[in-house]
Amino acid sequence: MTDTTLIPAARPIIGDEERAAVDAVLRSGMLAQGPEVAAFESEFSAELGGGRPTAAVNSGTSGLHLGLLAAGIGPGDEVVVPSFTFAATANAVVLAGATPVFADIDPATFNLDAASVESVIGPRTAAIMPVHLYGHPADMAALAAVADRHSLAVFEDAAQAHGATIDGRQVGTFGRFAMFSLYPTKNMTSGEGGMVVSADEATDQRVRLLRNQGMARQYENEVAGFNARMTDLHAAIGRVQLRKLAGWTADRRRNAGRLDAELEGVVTPPVAPGVEHVYHQYTIRVAEDRDGFARALREEYGVGTGVYYPTPVHRLPSFAQSDDLPETERAAATALSLPVHPSLTDADLDRIVDAVNRLAKAGS
Ligand SMILES: *Cc1c(COP(=O)(O)O)cnc(C)c1O
Repeated sequence: MTDTTLIPAARPIIGDEERAAVDAVLRSGMLAQGPEVAAFESEFSAELGGGRPTAAVNSGTSGLHLGLLAAGIGPGDEVVVPSFTFAATANAVVLAGATPVFADIDPATFNLDAASVESVIGPRTAAIMPVHLYGHPADMAALAAVADRHSLAVFEDAAQAHGATIDGRQVGTFGRFAMFSLYPTKNMTSGEGGMVVSADEATDQRVRLLRNQGMARQYENEVAGFNARMTDLHAAIGRVQLRKLAGWTADRRRNAGRLDAELEGVVTPPVAPGVEHVYHQYTIRVAEDRDGFARALREEYGVGTGVYYPTPVHRLPSFAQSDDLPETERAAATALSLPVHPSLTDADLDRIVDAVNRLAKAGS
């Protein structure tokens, strides 16, 4: 009897250490932003932020929102973003009072295409915000060249790319600010949460002010701010996860290596030269009937998959724009993410390879 118990597309890993860390915070009686958050910020900065000033917030979306405000983005500004991303990227621009302008992607990496970015730059363009989608870094050299030519700021949505590098330099250390998400399905989690890594102290201080009602000192509010604080409960989980991240990333890369070597008849995800991919997702292309392929994987073989993202952001009801982004449309119709997470066993990988290869062969 073949095993067809579902292999999930993603699986958060929570161990005894995380539970003990939360329990210790509960016993301390100090639950809100406190010493655990401060320790998490400095450990995250050292491990993933190149030592840059780092502020914890209550979600990745808050991180983008506050980062944009701290960088001075507001009404009248346009920020160039991909449409092939999670809606939060563009939502944050709207929340900051500015306007997202959508550019197309490089079909190889699914990330912003510098030439397409340059073609949508206008007099109101203030910044470019690439996403390091699926854990593969965007082409920061090409985007920096465009930004320099037009005197634009660069921000990073690194929600999916903890620890990814370009020529040994970590994502999150290229932009005026970068956001990492700590949502449960990301490469590490704090339950909910986000980290904002800033290039300079002034941006970091502004994020810290905005996350806490505009107060640096209690009841001396300097600006109208938010409550976007991370709790010590969440930070305690995040600190444990941060210590496990490098091992999990190695597992993801090893799983991806097996899929690269053994999948046949589908387009596997290429990696740009000099890049370390951290495989938040392992995303193949299925040219014909992607959704039928995904259904067969689940129903016949018990292989869960994900479609990130079925509708380009510019066409969501919340934006409803008719931009011409052909590579974005093609990616939304053909991208399929296979399980690559650290919990996969060798038997799981055997089953995924067997299922994809059989279905690809049957469909060709
Ligand atoms: C997850 C994610 C976000 C938002 O992060 P949250 O922590 O869920 O608010 C933003 N951008 C991208 C690309 C994401 O994947």
